[in-house]
Amino acid sequence: MATAVLNKRKKTINRSKVKNKSNKKFVYYFGGKQSEAKPGMKALLGGKGANLAEMANLGIPVPPGFTITTEACGLYYENDMNWPGGLSDQITEKIDQLEKMMGAQLGSTEDPLLVSVRSGAAVSMPGMMDTVLNLGINEAVVRALIIKTENERFAWDSYRRFIQMFGNVVMDIEHEEFEHVIEAKKKAVGVHLDTELTAEDLRDIVSKYLEVYGREVGSDFPQDPRMQLDLAINAVFKSWNNPRAHRYRQLNDIRGLKGTAVNVQAMVFGNMGETSGTGVLFSRNPSTGENKLYGEYLMNAQGEDVVAGIRTPKPLHTLKKQNAKVYDQLLKITQRLEKHYRDMQDMEFTIQEGKLYILQTRNGKRTASAAIRIACDLVKEKLITEDQALLRLDPKSLDQLLHPTFDPKAPKDVLSVGLPASPGAATGKIVFDAHTAERWAQERNERVILVRIETSPEDIGGMSAAKGILTARGGMTSHAAVVARGMGKCCVAGCGDLNINYSKKEVEVKGRKFKEGDYISLDGSRGEVYAGEVPTQEPKLSKEFAQVMKWADRRRFLKVRTNADTPHDAIVARKFGAEGIGLCRTEHMFFEGDRIIAVREMILADDRAGREKALKKLLPMQRSDFEGIFVAMKGLAVTIRLLDPPLHEFVPHEKENQKEMAEIMGVSVDKVRQKVSSLSEFNPMLGHRGCRLGISYPEIYDMQVRAIMEAACIVKKKKIKVYPEIMIPLVGTVKELSVLKQNAKRVIQQVFQEQGTKVDYLIGTMIEIPRAALTSAEIAKEAEFFSFGTNDLTQMTFGYSRDDAGVFLTEYLNQGILDYDPFQTLDASGVGELIRIGIESARKVKPKLKVGICGEHGGDPNSVKLCHGLGMNYVSCSPFRVPIARLSAAQAAVASSKKGKRK
Ligand code: ADP
Ligand code: MG
Ligand code: MG
Repeated sequence: MATAVLNKRKKTINRSKVKNKSNKKFVYYFGGKQSEAKPGMKALLGGKGANLAEMANLGIPVPPGFTITTEACGLYYENDMNWPGGLSDQITEKIDQLEKMMGAQLGSTEDPLLVSVRSGAAVSMPGMMDTVLNLGINEAVVRALIIKTENERFAWDSYRRFIQMFGNVVMDIEHEEFEHVIEAKKKAVGVHLDTELTAEDLRDIVSKYLEVYGREVGSDFPQDPRMQLDLAINAVFKSWNNPRAHRYRQLNDIRGLKGTAVNVQAMVFGNMGETSGTGVLFSRNPSTGENKLYGEYLMNAQGEDVVAGIRTPKPLHTLKKQNAKVYDQLLKITQRLEKHYRDMQDMEFTIQEGKLYILQTRNGKRTASAAIRIACDLVKEKLITEDQALLRLDPKSLDQLLHPTFDPKAPKDVLSVGLPASPGAATGKIVFDAHTAERWAQERNERVILVRIETSPEDIGGMSAAKGILTARGGMTSHAAVVARGMGKCCVAGCGDLNINYSKKEVEVKGRKFKEGDYISLDGSRGEVYAGEVPTQEPKLSKEFAQVMKWADRRRFLKVRTNADTPHDAIVARKFGAEGIGLCRTEHMFFEGDRIIAVREMILADDRAGREKALKKLLPMQRSDFEGIFVAMKGLAVTIRLLDPPLHEFVPHEKENQKEMAEIMGVSVDKVRQKVSSLSEFNPMLGHRGCRLGISYPEIYDMQVRAIMEAACIVKKKKIKVYPEIMIPLVGTVKELSVLKQNAKRVIQQVFQEQGTKVDYLIGTMIEIPRAALTSAEIAKEAEFFSFGTNDLTQMTFGYSRDDAGVFLTEYLNQGILDYDPFQTLDASGVGELIRIGIESARKVKPKLKVGICGEHGGDPNSVKLCHGLGMNYVSCSPFRVPIARLSAAQAAVASSKKGKRK
C-alpha cells in the first residue's frame, strides 16, 4: 500500500484501495471566477478555505488554489491514516486546473509553479497546525527561478525556507538544527538580520540545510514536487491531532470537528526585495475595539516572519508612506470585507513587487472590552441588530472586565516598558517555562508570570496557567500577544530590555537580576513591567458595557441573583446588577472573629440547656449580620439558608484549641477530645447535616430564624423594604420540611409579637437530593419556593463525592468518558432531567411556584441556558459572575425566541 517511504523517519502515505464509490467531492477549486465553493461551506472547507473562495468571488485579489475538505481528513482518521479513495486523482485534476490558470507547472524548469500547503479547520486555531510554504522547489527548479526572476537571492532564500519548513513540519526535524546553521552563517559574515545575507550566503545555507536533512532523515531531500506535495498534505492531516492542537481544542471547548481542511495555493512572494513584503492587520483595534486599521508588516519578508518575532515589524500606518496605492487598496478591501462579514476582520496580506494579495481573512479575536465596543459600534453602523450583538459576545469573557486593575496610587518600581499586548493587571512569581508555570499553578496554587524570550504554540498550557505573560521579543501580533488576548490574559510583549538566561533561570533587566520565584507585576494595558508585587483595585466599567447589559436585561426572562454571605459581597453583586440574594450561607459567618468559640461551645455542649446558653451568645451576632445584608439589598429578596454543614467542620481538631475549649467550658481536655471524635463520620456529606441537624437540634434553627426575623423587623422599622426568604437545606422527605416549617412559624409569630410589627416572608426549601426532585409534588405543598442546590444534586445523582472526584474526573475528561466536568456545567441529561421532573410535578400542584438555582452552575453560561429552558424564574451565582449570567440568560432568550419557545 505504501507509495512513498523515506528511511529513518518513516513517512509514508497510505492510499486506500477502496474506490470512492459515492463519487464524493473532496477537492474544491478557488480563484478568479472559477471558485467552486458556495457560501456557508465553512464546516466542509474550513474557515480559511471557505473565506479564500468567498474573497475570490468578491473579486478580491487572492492567489488561486484548491481546498481539500475536512471530510477527507476525517476519513483519513477513520481509515487508519489512509487517504480516502479518489482523493489523489481529484488533487491531480485540480493541479492541472491551477497550472493552466497560472501558466506555470509544478517542477517545470521554465515556469515553475510553487504552492503553499496550509491547514485550516472550521474553527480558527491560529498557529496550532502546520503550513508549508514555497513547495515545489528542487535543484533544477531553483536554477529556473534564478533565470526567470533574475533574482538569485530570492531563489535561494525561498529554497532554504522550503527545506526548513518541509524538514520541520513534514519530517519533524527540530527547528534548532536549521537555526544553528543560519546563526553560524550570520556570525561568520558579520550580519544581524536574515535580510542582510547575500545570495551566495543563502546558497551556502541551502547546501548545509540539505546536509542536515540527509543526516536527520536518512535520505535525500525529495526532488519530485508531487511527492513533496503529497507528503505535505499528509503532514497537515496529521497536524490536526498534534498535542498542541489537541490542547487548544480542549482549552477552547472546540468539539465535534472531524479534521482540518488543507489549502494548496499558488505562492506569492513577499521576499522579492524592497518593493515586496508581508503583513497582518485587524480592521479595528483588537485590544480596545477602536474603529481604526491596526496592523504590522515587514518589507522583503515572507509568511511567518511578521509574527515570529525575529525582526520587529513596522506599524501599518507607515505603509502609507512606503506605498500609498497599496495602502489605499488595503483600506478599501478591509472595508469591503467588514461589510461582507459584518464583523471585525483579521487579515493576512502579501505585496509582491508592488502588487497586493490577500491571503486570509477571518473574524478577528479580540479582548472582551474590544468585543463589547465593536458590537455596539456595529449596531450603530447598522451592520448588525441588538440581538445579534448579544449573541456575538462570549459571556465568559466578561470576567476579564470585572477583575481588578493596579491601584494608580500604589508606588510602582518600573523596570521596563514593552508592548501593551493584552490588557489587565497581573502580579506573580517569575517562571521561565510553561511546564513550571503549570506545575506551580496547579500543585502549589501559586500566581505565576510566564517570562519567555518568545512563546510558541507548545507553551499554551503554561500560558493558560499563568496570571500574565511577558516576552522579550515579538510585536502586537506575536504568538504571545494573540494567544493572551484570546485567553483574556494580561500580556506585555517585545520587552527588549529583558536578558533572559533559561539555563540559569534568571532574567537581567537594566542591570537588575531576578530569579525564578521572584515577584514581578505586569500592566498589560500600558505595557509596563514592575518589580515586586503591586496592589490592585476594582475595575471601571465602560458605557458600552452598560449598553450591552441594558440590551441583555430587556431580553431575558431569567432573573439573576447572587450568592453572597456578607454585606460587602452583596454590595459588589448589586453593582454588577444582582436582583437579590439567592443563597446566603449562614455558616460562613461562624468563622469570623471569635464567634467560632461560641459555635464550638454550642456544638460541644452536653445537653439542650448548654446549647441554648451558647446560642444566646450567637444570636446578636447573626442578627447584626442579617441587618447588614438586608440594608445592602434594600428592596430585594434575600434567601437565607439555615445551617447546612456537618458539625464536625466547626469543632477544634488541634490540641491547643481543644485545650482552650476545655478551659472555657470547665471540662477536661479528654472530654472535649471524646466529643470531637464522636462527631466524626465516614461519609459526612451524606451524614448528619442540613435539615437533619434542624430535626435533632431544633434550638439551632430556632435561633437562626429568630435572628433573621428580628433583623428583618428592625430594618423594616427603619423604613427599609425587606423580603426575607428562609431556606431549609437537604430536604429529602416532605415531613422534614413540614416539621421544620412549623417550628419556624412558631418562632416567627413570637418575634412579630415581641417586635410589634410584621414583615412578609417565605419559607422554602432546597432541592438537592434526588428523592426531593422525584417527590416534588408533595414537597411543593409545603414549600413556598424551590431552589435547586445543584452542587449536592450533582454529587448525589452521579454518586461522585465533590471533594474526592478531582482525581478521577481529570482522567474521565481526558479519556472522553465525560464531556464536561458536571460540577462546572450542569449535566443536562441526568441532573437536568431530575430538575425538569422536579419543576414540572411541583408546578402541577403550585403553578406559580418560584424556582431558582443556587449551585455553582448558576454562573456558567451553558447551565444558565439550560435553566432558561427548564422554566426557572432565576439563577443565583457569585458576584463576579452576575453579568455573565445576565448575558447568558439574554442569549438563551434570543435563541429560543427564534424557535418561538418560552412565552
Ligand atoms: P496559520 O494558520 O498558522 O496562520 P497560514 O496557512 O495562514 O498559517 O500560513 C502561514 C503564513 O504563510 C501566513 O503569513 C500566510 O500569509 C503565509 N502564506 C500562506 N500561503 C501563502 C502563499 N500562497 N503565498 C504567500 N504567503 C503565504
Ligand atoms: Mg494564517
Ligand atoms: Mg447543598
